[in-house]
Amino acid sequence: MALEYDMIIFGGGVAGLWLCNTLKRAGYNVILIEKDKLGAGQTLASQGMIHGGQKYVLQGAMTHHAASLAKMPERWESSFEGWGEIDLTGVEFLSEHQVMWPAGGILSDVAVLGAAKLVNADTKKLKRPDFPEVLQLKKKFKGPVYQLPEKVLEVRSLIQSLAKHLKGRLFQGEATELLPDGQVAVSGLVMRAQLVIFTAGTGNERALELLKVKDRHAQRRPLRQIMVKPVPYALYAHGIVGSPKPRLTVTAHPTGAPNEYVWYLGGAVAEEGAKMDDAAALAFAKKELSEIFPDIDWNGKEWATWYGDRAEPFDAAGDMPPGPHVHQRGRVLMAWPTKLTFAPALSDRVFDWLKDKDIHPVAKSPAPPLPTAGIASYPWEVAEWRRLEDA
Ligand SMILES: Cc1cc2nc3c(=O)[nH]c(=O)nc-3n(C[C@H](O)[C@H](O)[C@H](O)COP(=O)(O)OP(=O)(O)OC[C@H]3O[C@@H](n4cnc5c(N)ncnc54)[C@H](O)[C@@H]3O)c2cc1C
Repeated sequence: MALEYDMIIFGGGVAGLWLCNTLKRAGYNVILIEKDKLGAGQTLASQGMIHGGQKYVLQGAMTHHAASLAKMPERWESSFEGWGEIDLTGVEFLSEHQVMWPAGGILSDVAVLGAAKLVNADTKKLKRPDFPEVLQLKKKFKGPVYQLPEKVLEVRSLIQSLAKHLKGRLFQGEATELLPDGQVAVSGLVMRAQLVIFTAGTGNERALELLKVKDRHAQRRPLRQIMVKPVPYALYAHGIVGSPKPRLTVTAHPTGAPNEYVWYLGGAVAEEGAKMDDAAALAFAKKELSEIFPDIDWNGKEWATWYGDRAEPFDAAGDMPPGPHVHQRGRVLMAWPTKLTFAPALSDRVFDWLKDKDIHPVAKSPAPPLPTAGIASYPWEVAEWRRLEDA
């Protein structure tokens, strides 16, 4: 006898956890099955920024992607305040804002405040005493520094808050067989659902494989994020140059010692780093940091990397897709948020689909006899730290 559920979700990153909450709230008998640990894929490796789209329209033209992102901060905010679709009052923030500053290029009021207008963001130009401390070290640097109303999450507290509402529904396991009619095998158990949903990041490719789908529906865009510690400054910022991509995006994560942070670097430094080996990427990052922050001694620090993929729906040009995407095969959906920020929008896509197909709660099976899924670690908690040869 197969265990029957309304929905079985595979993948416990932000997308699966968000969706599991909204489906549960709508009365569906839904369970989530995670291969490893909750947050283990891209989610805990992300920089936790709730984007409002501004950094994508600095060139002055509005895009569909930015317009969709612009709706997201308010959506998240309602949940952080406790009156939105999921109670996320337990989420902690590393910062209430991000800043943008010119890291080697020119950044003008026209570009930044014009972009803020396009996405309707309350962006402010800061006076020097209000610059983040590390930017005040640059004695000749007069700015500009802009403050964006985009929060930076302590991502583990997000996972914990999403998981808190899902007691008895989060399991560890992996699908070994999958049929388009909604039947799956997990650890020898046969299950069936009105809808099987893969929010498994790079693992969505496995679903396509099990379904024997031949054409290409998924892509990966690799990054080599750089980690360096200890740094005595908190910074949540995009260092902008002429290109649409920031030269570096910095988030700072407390090490536990007073005023000590791991700096976690994304942006061009991580995209370029993905084309190099580990040692070359670290040497490049050190050079970039020495140029951008010459007042900090980058010798004697500890360094590490996180190499991984952004798991996305296929784009013929290999570019960033415009937003969340759902691909359907029978009773199986493969879903990609493409950004942590888009998790609520991905859930909307699935609900549109349920409405369209007129799917209502019916299934009655109890929880499957599978182990409960735990929560994964941040990359910097499990990284192999090393010292570079100082020069
Ligand atoms: C370095 C980096 C920085 C980023 N920074 C930001 C940011 O600041 N802001 C932002 O909005 N977005 C950011 N993103 C994008 C964002 O992290 C992702 O879009 C988002 O986390 C994807 O969530 P997900 O739940 O779809 O996938 P994931 O977080 O990858 O979760 C997939 C889960 O599925 C599990 N899994 C895999 N295969 C299977 C299987 N066969 N069965 C069951 N489970 C399986 C994995 O173990 C994993 O836990 C960043 C991405 C990266 C890589």
